[in-house]
Amino acid sequence: MNLIELVREAGVVGAGGAGFPTHVKLAARVDTVLANGAECEPLLYSDQFVMESHAGEIVDGLRHVMRQTGATRGLICVKEKYHDAVARFEKLIAAEKGMELFLLGNFYPSGDEQVLVYETTGRIVPEAGIPLNVGVVVQNVATLANIARAAKGEAVTDKIITVGGEIKNPGVHRVPLGASLAGIIAGCGGPLVDDFALLLNGPMMGRLADPEKEVVTKTTAGFFILPKANPHVARLSRPLAADIRLSRGACEQCRYCTDLCPRSLNGHALEPHAIMRVINEQREPEASTVLNAFLCCECGVCDLFACPIALSPRRFFRDFKRSLSGRGIRFTPENKELKADIYREVRRVPKDKLTRRLALSKYEIKPAYHGTRWDMPAVNLPLSMHLGAPALPLVEAGDKVKRGQKIASIPEGKLGAAVHASIDGTVTKVNGYIRIEK
Ligand code: SF4
Ligand code: SF4
Repeated sequence: MNLIELVREAGVVGAGGAGFPTHVKLAARVDTVLANGAECEPLLYSDQFVMESHAGEIVDGLRHVMRQTGATRGLICVKEKYHDAVARFEKLIAAEKGMELFLLGNFYPSGDEQVLVYETTGRIVPEAGIPLNVGVVVQNVATLANIARAAKGEAVTDKIITVGGEIKNPGVHRVPLGASLAGIIAGCGGPLVDDFALLLNGPMMGRLADPEKEVVTKTTAGFFILPKANPHVARLSRPLAADIRLSRGACEQCRYCTDLCPRSLNGHALEPHAIMRVINEQREPEASTVLNAFLCCECGVCDLFACPIALSPRRFFRDFKRSLSGRGIRFTPENKELKADIYREVRRVPKDKLTRRLALSKYEIKPAYHGTRWDMPAVNLPLSMHLGAPALPLVEAGDKVKRGQKIASIPEGKLGAAVHASIDGTVTKVNGYIRIEK
């Protein structure tokens, strides 16, 4: 099998984003590959530990991807302040042809693909485009480690996640896919508060989730226990209608949301304040204003950092995108030259300041790393842990399976990813997910 087939067979997907199937990205021809170790979300430490404990696999994965895509340049993008990871990579890439380290500042969202491409190459990804359009492939560091393992025939069965907040033993853990979040909370000693909310995947891009219903997937980066009364929880729980009411009464058109928007600073025609004006004045929205919603990456800078009165252009964009996509309406980019904003560098959002603004600094502590894989009595593996069509089950209730065995495959001719057993055991249920009990 070649690398693309091995990666497809191993079920590798983008570990740091929406779960785009990696084998599809590997079919591209580019000149540059970026290993994304920016990990810019406050409170998350998972990628830092992946880099410190699996640096060799990351370099192997990067070498594989460079060879596969024809790239002559491979940049490992890591925060300057991650001294241990930097030291490890420096040693490992000393003799590697075409590989370099790119040291990033501590700002948000340094890990956004388009921001990273501009920071490292000076190229601007076109509106509604992807890095491939400018000759770049971006792979998260954990994905690269999975690619290196896939090249040796190992499937994706585990995830390294951060568990933090109001929990007895915060830490970074290696857990089997499909492990229940409630089980992990119990295994970490339980919550320190009675009335808590669970924040999945970080305060900026993440969401509130039910620990009894959710499991670890290929894109889970971590979760945090917060008191229900925490202002950030209240903010995320606010209904959209309340946001609209607030916006109508309070938006002062100061433009901070636009001035600090990373996509706007990269030269895209996204102006959050303009959409707020349309909503505030209850005008019939012009097509161009509304369609620009498709340029929003939902980073949260506008609502969680920029707006002085905590309004949320992001939520309106999200809602517009959903309703426009539902009606089959898409954004058509104009073929124009893009120029980054001249103030781009001074308008980066410092991560520490952002964490303080979110009132979450007390949870920003580097937790202990537990490299040993957790033993779980049962897992529920979703058939959809990736972008594309759900995987098709290859097993039924009663089947005995071994960890690493393929239990669901990509439907013929579709975009998708295979699913593998993450523990040894017996299949007890197949119903949108596959349950395996020890
Ligand atoms: S930052 Fe807030 S108040 Fe200012 S224009 Fe944007 S939404 Fe309105
Ligand atoms: S969430 Fe806000 S700041 Fe981020 S890209 Fe969208 S409009 Fe810009």
